Amino acid sequence: MKLSTMQTFLFDMDGTVYLENQLFPGVLEFFDFLREHGRRFYFLTNNSSRHALFYATKLQKLGLHWCTPSHIITSGEACIFHLRKRNPRARIFLLGTKDLEMEFLRAGFTLVQDHPDFVVLGFDKTLTYQKLDRACAFIREGIPFFATHPDFACPGEDRPILDMGCIIKAIEAFTGRLPQIFGKPYPEMIEYALWRTGGKKETMAMVGDRLYTDIAMGKKAGITSILVLTGETKEEDLATSSWQPDFVFPSLKELHQALAKEMSNL
Ligand SMILES: [Mg+2]
Repeated sequence: MKLSTMQTFLFDMDGTVYLENQLFPGVLEFFDFLREHGRRFYFLTNNSSRHALFYATKLQKLGLHWCTPSHIITSGEACIFHLRKRNPRARIFLLGTKDLEMEFLRAGFTLVQDHPDFVVLGFDKTLTYQKLDRACAFIREGIPFFATHPDFACPGEDRPILDMGCIIKAIEAFTGRLPQIFGKPYPEMIEYALWRTGGKKETMAMVGDRLYTDIAMGKKAGITSILVLTGETKEEDLATSSWQPDFVFPSLKELHQALAKEMSNL
């Protein structure tokens, strides 16, 4: 497997491209290189509480001025893609923010409070006891049940904040049921990325800083996986991990160097 044969790169954001609103060194140059060489790339997020425009604007502010919503893939979009395949006109009881509600409505679903076809959990900072209790009642009735992503924590302003995984646990405790999930590390996110980008498995790579989400998803989906050590994973974690990436680099800067070297030898 060669880096230079990769045509489509999927990037995790936090810990891979930036940390605490600061791009890692060499990131701007790397993306300029990919653009110059006609490689396609996308940024993936499990956070379904914001839509693509929010992330595109964030990346623009960090210096990636060419970034548009077309560069962003969210777990909410992956969820919508898979639910549309099951029932494009579904009536959905949704736990989610206004942004996520808008995405579901735009996709042609009807959001309902009674008699839903599906119950869908998204990251929901407006969650109330009443909403949660209602979702549980539908889930106990056996209504098909889905969640956008499984993370227990996500980055907040100055500390990690409680995320969807905790709500899934609460629902499981009461109903005994678990949802089907679409975000990282589930390969359904890549299935959506393949459809959205028109890319091929053989020439698509997932780049990220977490073994059990980014790399696990790449492996399960059968695409190339590239680990960077700028985030959560340290080199010593690799020895004991059941998920082994195809490539490991200290940061995107060294991935850029390796790719450039390979391409100059072609
Ligand atoms: Mg990350």
